[in-house]
Amino acid sequence: MQVLVVEDDPAVAGPLREGLERHGFTVELVSYATQALPAVQEFGPDLVLLDLGLPDGDGLDVLREIRRISDVPVIIATARGDETDRIIGLELGSDDYVVKPFSVRELAARIRAVGRRRRREPASDNGRLVVDRTKHAVTLDGEALDLTAKEFDLLAVLAEEPGRAVPRQELFARVWDPVWVGTGKTLDVHVASLRRKLGDPTLIETVRGVGYRLASM
Ligand code: CA
Repeated sequence: MQVLVVEDDPAVAGPLREGLERHGFTVELVSYATQALPAVQEFGPDLVLLDLGLPDGDGLDVLREIRRISDVPVIIATARGDETDRIIGLELGSDDYVVKPFSVRELAARIRAVGRRRRREPASDNGRLVVDRTKHAVTLDGEALDLTAKEFDLLAVLAEEPGRAVPRQELFARVWDPVWVGTGKTLDVHVASLRRKLGDPTLIETVRGVGYRLASM
């Protein structure tokens, strides 16, 4: 698996390359925003790790450019506590984020998780629940469910990784309009409606202070 690392700080980039290679990844490294897009085109990486603070530009602009030409999985690396960057990154189509400083072990685990999530699409089958993004169809225990578009999107995100507590802000970012900043109410209303339609309220668990997760089935 080939990873393109876009990172300008040599103190980070060097050890990162070595560490990822130890974990079995092939690494291409570039240091400037302007090099990122050509590198995606040239190397066709399986995943991009994108630092947001680059010397010649904003990593979020780079992400936007990448998304115009490619749906390669992107993990953004942000500074601690930079919540806005994370949310905007998810809105722009990043697959995950890591907060600096992060360990190579953590990053390698995230990279593999993103790969697994991507491979599971278009259909994600959690035993009882099958979410098919291509057909935009959901079945529970073989029975088709009639969901609204937002309910479907919400369930599809939760179903990517059963058992993972998905933060509220991630659900907002991925299901609703990127620029829309709502109260928590809309999300909770949709979850309540989904639970009703699923007929089993225990399938979507509330994770207090975090968000929601789909029960492992
Ligand atoms: Ca940087």
